[in-house]
Amino acid sequence: MPSVFSHAIAAVAIGGVAVEGRSRAAIWGLGALCAVAPDLDVVSLLFGIPYSHVLGHRGLSHSLLVAALLATLVTALARRNLAESPGTAKLWLFFFLATASHGLLDAMTNGGLGVAFFAPFSDTRYFLPWRPILVSPISIHVFLGYRGVRVMWSELGWIWLPAALVLLAGLALRRRATSRRLL
Ligand SMILES: [Zn+2]
Repeated sequence: MPSVFSHAIAAVAIGGVAVEGRSRAAIWGLGALCAVAPDLDVVSLLFGIPYSHVLGHRGLSHSLLVAALLATLVTALARRNLAESPGTAKLWLFFFLATASHGLLDAMTNGGLGVAFFAPFSDTRYFLPWRPILVSPISIHVFLGYRGVRVMWSELGWIWLPAALVLLAGLALRRRATSRRLL
């Protein structure tokens, strides 16, 4: 996995383009949580479930089906609790993309097993053909060491920088659209 911070920042970048309105900060925050959630599957290691199992790391929790289900749940929560939120379809699409971006980024890392995008229908693990991101260690101790520094450096270049550019472009486009509306 890229580190949790990088998954969260990718979701915020998507939110910067896709979600506007007064509740946007809360919605971006929920999207960031969605983007981090698939890695809760590391608890499976504590239960002795092998990495390659469909319930193992990067298995079912990283699938598109779980992304769709989580998006449905979080959309319902957001619609109920946020006074002003975008429409259901837009919210769902954002939460789905935020969650699915996790598997996509994992599939661009250079280590571990691939991502079971189509679980539970297929156990096949996938990587993208292009895998520039250094894989982040699961152990927090290793992450805090030299390898963690190298991983963060890799993620800064391959995730944070593109995410910042996407976010700024989204905000700039929106500002232009708003000022055009005011003219
Ligand atoms: Zn992951």
